[in-house]
Amino acid sequence: WGLMRFALMTTTLLRLPPQPQPTARTAPRLWVPRQVLITRSAAGLPHGRAIAERAAALGSAVIELSSDRVVLPKHEDPRAAYRAAKSTMAIVVAPPSKRRLQPIPPSADWRFDLAEGCHAHCQYCYLAGSLAGPPITRVYANLDEILEALPAHLGQGGVTSTSADRAHEGTTFEASCYADPLGIEHLTGGLTKAVRFFGSWDAAVQLRFTSKFADVSPLIGLPHGRQVRVRMSVNAPALIRYEGGTSPLAARIEALSRLARDGYRVGLTVAPIQHFEGWRSGYADLFAQVGQALAGVPDLDLTAELITHRFTPGSKGVLQGWYPGSDLDLDEGARSRKLTKFGSVKFVYPAETMREMQAALTGLLAEHLPAARLLYWT
Ligand code: SF4
Repeated sequence: WGLMRFALMTTTLLRLPPQPQPTARTAPRLWVPRQVLITRSAAGLPHGRAIAERAAALGSAVIELSSDRVVLPKHEDPRAAYRAAKSTMAIVVAPPSKRRLQPIPPSADWRFDLAEGCHAHCQYCYLAGSLAGPPITRVYANLDEILEALPAHLGQGGVTSTSADRAHEGTTFEASCYADPLGIEHLTGGLTKAVRFFGSWDAAVQLRFTSKFADVSPLIGLPHGRQVRVRMSVNAPALIRYEGGTSPLAARIEALSRLARDGYRVGLTVAPIQHFEGWRSGYADLFAQVGQALAGVPDLDLTAELITHRFTPGSKGVLQGWYPGSDLDLDEGARSRKLTKFGSVKFVYPAETMREMQAALTGLLAEHLPAARLLYWT
C-alpha cells in the first residue's frame, strides 16, 4: 500500500464519537512504534492491514515482510537491542498453539490473547519472566479466528463458576496476561472488537483486562452490555516511577472513572504491592484518590485484586539486564523462597510481612472504597 493511501485513510480510521475529554493534567500519551513489521500472512487479513494503516498514519515506518518470520537485526550492545525491540511492533498471525485457551486462576476461567509483549518499561514487569526473546510487541491479525474460539469454552473453567462471589459473572475471559491491550488500542482496534463481541454475546460471560494506560476514549460509548470488566493496574504513588512509558496514575484513575460512568464494570489491580518506607500511607493515598474519583458513580460494580511483589531468578536476571540502574528491591535475602506448582523457584515476602500488609491493605480498601469487592490477595 502506498503512503498516500495510509494518509487518506487517517481521517476515517481515527474519527471518534464525541465524549468527555480528559483534562490536560491527565491526557494520555499514545505510543507510536518506530517501526512496524507485518508478516506476509498478516498482510493478507483485513484486521492486519488496518493496524498497519493506523500505524503508518501515526508516523510509524511500516515494513512488509516477505515471509512469516519476524527477525530483528543483531545488536552487539544489549541496550541497543532492547531499545530496538521495545520500539518495534510486529503484526503477525497467531498460530493454533497461541490460540489455545488456558485456565488462568485466580483472575479468570480462561486466558486468550489479542497480543503478546508490551512497549512500556516497567522495572518489575511480569512479562520479563514469562516471554522469551527480544521484547517486541506482537499483535494478532487473525482476531476473528481468536474470538470465534471463545464460545466453545462457555460454562467451563474452574475460577469464576466455583466461587460463590463470582458465579454471577458467568464464564470469564482474561485478555491481558501477556500484553496490555489498552496501551495499543489506538493502533489495533482489537479491544473495541472484543468489547462489541462480548457485549452482543447472549450468555453469562465477561471479558476482563487490566491496564496501565489511560486512553479509554475508543471504549466509551461501545455496546458492552455490562459484560466487560476493565481494571486499572495501580500502585502507591511513590512506586509509579518504576513504570516507565505508562500513563500517569492520575490519568489511570480518571480513566477508571470515565469507564464506570459509561456503565462498565471496573476494578483495581493493585500490583505489585511492595513493602517500602511509607507503604501504609502510600496505599491509603492511592485508595483515597480512587474513592474520590468514583464518588457518585451510579450502579458501581468495583472489584479489587491485590497482588504482592514476587520475582524468580529468571525474571530478576532479565530485569537487571534491561534496567541496570534500577533501585528496585530484588534482594533474595529479604524474601522467602517458594516453589511454584510447576516446581520453579519464586521469591515472595516473608509470611509475617505478608500478614501485616494484607491486614493493612484490606482495611484501607474497606475504609476508602467500601463498595469494592476483594477478589483475592496473593
Ligand atoms: Fe509490563 Fe504491564 Fe508495564 Fe507493559 S505496562 S511493561 S506489560 S508491567
